[in-house]
Amino acid sequence: SELGLRDATLLRSEAFIDGRWLKADGGGSFGVDNPATGALLGSVPNMGAGETERAILAANRALPAWRRRTAHERAAILQRWHDLILENQEDLARIITGEQGKSRSESRAEVRYAASFIEWFAEEAKRVYGDVIPTDIDGRVILAIKEPIGVTAAITPWNFPCAMITRKAAPALASGCTLVLKPAEATPYSALALAVLAERAGIPPGVFSVVTGAPAEIGKELTGNHLVRKLSFTGSTAVGKKLMAQSAGTMKKLSLELGGNAPFIVFDDADVEDAVRGTINSKFRNCGQTCVCTNRILVQDGIYERFLSELSIAVGQLRVGAGIENEQVDLGPLINIAAVEKVEAHIADAVAKGAKVVRGGHRHSAGGSFFEPTIISGATSEMLIAQEETFGPVAALFRFKTEAEAIEMANDTRYGLASYFYSQNLNRTWRVLAALEFGMVGVNESLISTTVAPFGGIKESGIGREGSKYGIDEFLEIKYACIGGL
Ligand code: ADP
Repeated sequence: SELGLRDATLLRSEAFIDGRWLKADGGGSFGVDNPATGALLGSVPNMGAGETERAILAANRALPAWRRRTAHERAAILQRWHDLILENQEDLARIITGEQGKSRSESRAEVRYAASFIEWFAEEAKRVYGDVIPTDIDGRVILAIKEPIGVTAAITPWNFPCAMITRKAAPALASGCTLVLKPAEATPYSALALAVLAERAGIPPGVFSVVTGAPAEIGKELTGNHLVRKLSFTGSTAVGKKLMAQSAGTMKKLSLELGGNAPFIVFDDADVEDAVRGTINSKFRNCGQTCVCTNRILVQDGIYERFLSELSIAVGQLRVGAGIENEQVDLGPLINIAAVEKVEAHIADAVAKGAKVVRGGHRHSAGGSFFEPTIISGATSEMLIAQEETFGPVAALFRFKTEAEAIEMANDTRYGLASYFYSQNLNRTWRVLAALEFGMVGVNESLISTTVAPFGGIKESGIGREGSKYGIDEFLEIKYACIGGL
């Protein structure tokens, strides 16, 4: 195939329901493009409510046997899945780059990150302890028992086509839940490749199903079906709100990992070189298309010009290109032309309101949805770029004078996912850390995502945490048992 896979059987064009590879009921399908070339990679089934319901019923049938197994048995199977993912790292990376566009080195890192959730939660599930609570009435034993929630559902985005799936599937399956997944339309091949490997690892039929197709129809079934006890979603705040409303009817548990509007504050006392490196990582990784990507760079007056000129040099060194053909690229294309148009709109709005384009600002000469890495200076709070997630390679610099002003600007958003600041002053570090209203704070650090830490947001960035020891709680219920008459 055009992706140059070692094992071409990883590229499946059927959905995976109840351990079987299936076409859509009506035979319908939709195409998947390589955003770097516009070439069609293939087509996958365009499924809807009917197929989703069958996947849910299969998950429900598979549930009793799966949850009855010991955590050790489930962990052994999941460990095989983990190992198979790493053994196929190169092919999975090619599939990610092929359908999503990020550089091959970023894709490889994503595969390792994706696998790490499986190993982590396979281990964590062995330590799902309850409590024996000292009784307050003689003749009673009081227990808190943790149990898997049951049948669960996941809806995932295209920016991390593998990792956003394992971050949900691993804690779900490890804890004894079964899962029906709907991957993003732009990146179903990564999800289906994970299903191929899940099947090879011996995950039983129905425990993990992947339904590709119409988002709204599948979403309605996943939220409306009373057999599904929990939905875990990563995506936009707008869709998250819709799914939350739809889930009210069946009172589902929810984990929602939604949009962000991350501030990146550079104080006068920062190590500027470090801050520039951090900005490059957190702004331009995945071409600016991660929910923890820096959106607003707030720079203190005293070092503003120096930071801007050093950042401009660093941005000038970023290499743009297609990751399948060329290993030596830093930035791939944006996911599609709509994403390019949003970036253009943010730049045009900023310029109309007085900002200056210092570097880039246009579609890249590589064509398609490639965009030049861009720096904007003199951004202000009235601009779209301050209010909405740009989700593209645009570094917008805002100037501030005092620490109080920086904190006020940083918190002036409905979102509360990631935030970052650079300072060498210990007192300031504590003050600012405490004052930032975000679920995550990077202090002199810009790459903060790791399996072992709790990832998640506050405010309109969502509900719940993924990864870490907390991530498994999202798939557990507490059953209180009172044994009396002793
Ligand atoms: P993004 O901006 O990352 O595309 P979306 O929230 O649109 O964010 O997409 C995230 C996931 O949500 C994708 O799998 C997409 O198909 C799915 N999705 C979009 N709209 C709906 C909907 N109405 N119901 C259920 N899922 C949806």
